[in-house]
Amino acid sequence: MRNYIVSAIGAKLSQESGILELMNDLGETVALRPDMLTLGGGNPAEIPEMQTIWRKSAERLMKDGDEFDKALAHYDAPQGETRFLDAFAAMFREQFNLPISRANVAVTSGAQLGAFSLFNLLAGQTKDGRARKILVPLVPEYVGYADMGVEPGLFIGVPGKITYPNPDDRSVFKYAVDFNSVEAVLRKEDVAAILLSRPTNPSGNLITRAELVKLDALAEKYDALLIVDNAYGGPFPGILEDKTELDSVFWTPRAILFYSLSKIGLPSLRTAMMIAPEEIVERVSAMTAILGLANNSLGQRLAFPLVQSGEILSLSREVVLPYYRKRRTDAIEIVRREFARVGVDVRLHKSEGAFFLWLWTPELKCGSKALYRRLKEKGVLAIPGSGFFYGLSDMEVENRDPEFERSREQTLRVSFSSSELVVERGLRIIAETIAEMTANSRAY
Ligand code: PLP
Repeated sequence: MRNYIVSAIGAKLSQESGILELMNDLGETVALRPDMLTLGGGNPAEIPEMQTIWRKSAERLMKDGDEFDKALAHYDAPQGETRFLDAFAAMFREQFNLPISRANVAVTSGAQLGAFSLFNLLAGQTKDGRARKILVPLVPEYVGYADMGVEPGLFIGVPGKITYPNPDDRSVFKYAVDFNSVEAVLRKEDVAAILLSRPTNPSGNLITRAELVKLDALAEKYDALLIVDNAYGGPFPGILEDKTELDSVFWTPRAILFYSLSKIGLPSLRTAMMIAPEEIVERVSAMTAILGLANNSLGQRLAFPLVQSGEILSLSREVVLPYYRKRRTDAIEIVRREFARVGVDVRLHKSEGAFFLWLWTPELKCGSKALYRRLKEKGVLAIPGSGFFYGLSDMEVENRDPEFERSREQTLRVSFSSSELVVERGLRIIAETIAEMTANSRAY
C-alpha cells in the first residue's frame, strides 16, 4: 500500500527495479536465509589471501593512531583523499603511460553512485532543449545502470550480435558489437556517451580491443565520450582472461574509466575511482558534495599502501585472477555435466572475465522471471536475464534477430563466487529445475 504523493523523479527512483530486487535478495540471504544457495548478486569471493592482505592493512592503519583517527573522524574533500588521488594517478601514469594527474581522478561512493552522477550529468535535457542519451552499444549490459536515469529514456541499447566462435558448436556463443546499428543510433540521436562494462556483467564477454578502438573512433566522429566500466577488468582486480588487457590500459582523451575496490574484496566500503577529463572530475566531485558530502575514507586509506607500491596490480595477477580462473573452469564443467545429465540443451556465453556464467536455455518457454521465482522457492538465488536487456526500442522488434529476441527470456546469470559446495549444489538444482520447467512446457 502506497500512501504518499511523491514527485515524478521520486517515483522513478523508488520504483521496483532489477537492481533493488537483486540487492534485497543479497541482504536477505545474509541476514535471514543463510541456507540459501547464493549464485545471485555480484558479491566477490572471500579469497583467503586477499582477506589477509586487507586485515593486515587495517591493522597497520589502527596502529598509526593519527591516520586511523583521520579515517574515522574527518570528512575528505568530495573529490577524494589527496594522497590516495595522487598515488592512484601516479600508478596509471607510471605503469601505463596515461597522461593524467590527481585532477583526473574522482573517488565516488562505489562505481554505482559515480555512474549515477556521471550519467545524469551528461545525459537528459540540456538548457538549450537537447535531449542527450547514453548509448549502450551491446545489450545485455549491467542491470544496475538500467534505472539510473533521473529522466526516463536515458539509455538507448543496441542488441548484441550472437556469434558462435566455433560455427559447428552451438554450445558456446559470444556477443559482438553490431556497428551498423550503433552508427545508425549515433546518426539519429544526440548521444552524449557510449557506455560499456568490460568484462561485461552479465555475460562475461570481453568486448575486443578492436571493437573498443572502433567504438572510440565512432565516439570521436560523433563528439561523444566513451565510458568503460572496469569493475572486473584490468589492470585490477584483473578478473579477465586476456593478458594484454592486464598489461595495458585502454585510454583516449574521450575515455572515462571506472575502477572499484569492490571486486577485489571491499564491496561494503563503497569506494570507486573514476578517471576522466578534468572538467568531468570537477563536476562529479561537486555532485558528490551535494549527494553525500564526501566519500568513505576507510577504503581509500586501506588501499593506499597497495596502490602506492603497485601491489594491487601484482595481487590481481597472482592471487585474484588465478582464483577466479579455477572457479570458472570448475563451474563450466559442472554446468556441462549437470545439463547433460538432465538432457537439456544449454548454451554458455564464452566466459572471458568477471565471475558469472551466462546460461541460455533455448527450450525454456516460461520466461526467466518464472524460473528465478521457482529457483528461489527451491533455495537457489540466480538472476533472471531479462533485466539486463534494456534501452531497446519496441519499434524495431521486427528487424531484430529472432534468436536474440527469444534469448531475452531464456537467459540466467549465475555467479561462481560463492563456495565450491554452494556453486555445485546450486548448479545441480538449476539444471534440474530447468529440466522440469521445459518438460512441463513440452507437455502442453
Ligand atoms: N559496474 C559493474 C559492471 C558492476 O557489476 C558493479 C557491481 O556489481 C558496479 C559497477 C558497482 O560497483 P560498486 O560496488 O563499486 O558500486
